[in-house]
Amino acid sequence: MEITVVGSGTVVPRLGRRQSCVVVEAGGETLVFDLGSGAVRGMMRAGLDPFAADRIFFTHFHPDHTLDAVNLLFTIKYGAEGKRTRPLHVAGPEPFRRFWESVLAVWGDTMSGDYPTHVSELSRETSAPLDLPGCSLSWAPTEHSPESIAYRLDGPDGAFVYTGDTEYSEAVAELARGAHTLLTECTGSDDDPLPRHLTPSGAARIAREAGVGRVVLTHLHPAVDDGSLPSKVREWYDGEVVVAEDGLRLRV
Ligand SMILES: [Zn+2]
Ligand SMILES: [Zn+2]
Repeated sequence: MEITVVGSGTVVPRLGRRQSCVVVEAGGETLVFDLGSGAVRGMMRAGLDPFAADRIFFTHFHPDHTLDAVNLLFTIKYGAEGKRTRPLHVAGPEPFRRFWESVLAVWGDTMSGDYPTHVSELSRETSAPLDLPGCSLSWAPTEHSPESIAYRLDGPDGAFVYTGDTEYSEAVAELARGAHTLLTECTGSDDDPLPRHLTPSGAARIAREAGVGRVVLTHLHPAVDDGSLPSKVREWYDGEVVVAEDGLRLRV
């Protein structure tokens, strides 16, 4: 699995950090997790082809994770040189269908292409793994919004977990159990935590309890985004600690 952190920022506008988006290339397919503002241009900046997306998965519906979905589909419809024929799979947690239909009610004519689009809704509580080419996908509820979930991809060389947004959650630690790489949100500082989000100690606690080999910190609010972040996480977790940047590539 090749993983690219396309956007490592939050709702706070910053030149150096776009909003949430992660691209995973596995089994010959391109999987996109979240599409916050700037994601399409961020993919290009990272050397990725936005038209390559085969499957899109949303962790939750907040705009900093979904805004560029409209942009991506509009771009596929009118901005690509060739006409898309291969299907696009779009999925998110319940009630995703209602969310997607309301987006289509506003933008549908301009974003819906002639290619097949498969929309699926993931039950938040049950996670029978979904078999994808070269990997399997599972998920678990997070502590953030009523619908929010985290994702886990199991491939031949290990597992990759992306938390989306959450505060400390046993379910997320369980989902991440034994993973090679945990890409976790780390929005607020321990001195001034943001409700429903993780801090360095919370992210470290999940990483430690899950026994992951490497933790990568993303969804970075300016308040937490200084050079001291890795050492703060290392106070509670003794594996590898990486602070994400837009365009960061990881291999599992
Ligand atoms: Zn959120
Ligand atoms: Zn967010």
